[in-house]
Amino acid sequence: MSGGHVRELDEATVAQIAAGEVVERPASVVKELVENSLDAGASSVDVSVESGGTERIVVADDGRGMTADDLQVAVRQHTTSKLGDADDLDAVSTLGFRGEALYTVGSVSEMTVTTRPRDAGGSGSRIVVDHGDVGDVTPAGRPAGTTVEVADLFGETPARRKYLKRAATEFGHVNRAVTRYALANPDVAVSLTHDGREVFATTGTGDVRDAALAVYGREVAQSLREVDAEPNTGSVERVHGYVSDPEVTRSTREYLATFVNGRAVTDTVLREAVLDGYGGQLAPDRYPFAVLFVDCEGVDANVHPRKLEVRFEDEAGVKSAVESAVRDALLDSGLVRSGAPRG
Ligand code: ADP
Ligand code: MG
Repeated sequence: MSGGHVRELDEATVAQIAAGEVVERPASVVKELVENSLDAGASSVDVSVESGGTERIVVADDGRGMTADDLQVAVRQHTTSKLGDADDLDAVSTLGFRGEALYTVGSVSEMTVTTRPRDAGGSGSRIVVDHGDVGDVTPAGRPAGTTVEVADLFGETPARRKYLKRAATEFGHVNRAVTRYALANPDVAVSLTHDGREVFATTGTGDVRDAALAVYGREVAQSLREVDAEPNTGSVERVHGYVSDPEVTRSTREYLATFVNGRAVTDTVLREAVLDGYGGQLAPDRYPFAVLFVDCEGVDANVHPRKLEVRFEDEAGVKSAVESAVRDALLDSGLVRSGAPRG
């Protein structure tokens, strides 16, 4: 009450503080923009970053695009064209960020959105948001789709900027995120370019194996064994995807890509289940490649804007379904002996 130290913060400052909670690093921006492109029904999504995304991030798609009026609205707070059912994992995966991604990114960067609607022969338009300062919509040429360009990320929030890591580290996060979207959406042609060099480009054939070939290369793609099981018991409807031969491994767990009901999750239960499926055939501290989709019921999503964690109501059932699906796939290819001891 006394001293007058309590001042109301201006709107831009409040927005920048809030943004810092959800946009942590370039990879978080990339994640939101790629999700928007996928939501817009894009058949191709091209991601291009400079210096790991710390200098520039561009995400271009051929999705449904926006009219000039949509564009005005889309960059403002709490605007979304999507209505979600909160029980649906798909819907909650960006909860806390609903209708806020473009607004949030625009408040901590110089963001340019250029878009043209696919239908109605609409013309293209562009808007620039300069660290929260929303400019006017101007006409701009572009084929149908949307391009979002983000520069000067955290340029006016030095405390945040300071926490960014080396470009190579930030690029690692970007690469992992885009890789997961590419694997989870094999029907979409996804490309990633870093400092002008193409890192990978999937072709959008719809085949996970083609996407894996593009992102991981031939050695890995050739070693992939198909997993496809429908346990018909408990909460798991289907476990499908690919796992690598036990001798095609890396020294980190990061190539164990698991998806629950189509969404990328980093989950210890699933990872352990995959490893157990190898029945002791993996060398110590070596981890296989996996692109594994688990379709199941009884999933509680504990959602934080920066990550997606899940809890399975029937954890033991999920674990054994995944473990045996992986084991069967490797057994079928004669790579794992039945009854082999656990490692
Ligand atoms: P949300 O995705 O939660 O709706 P965003 O701030 O990410 O919120 O986007 C706001 C709105 O802008 C979206 O609902 C959508 O209508 C529009 N939009 C954003 N990105 C794209 C895109 N790449 N293509 C078409 N529309 C987009
Ligand atoms: Mg969004």
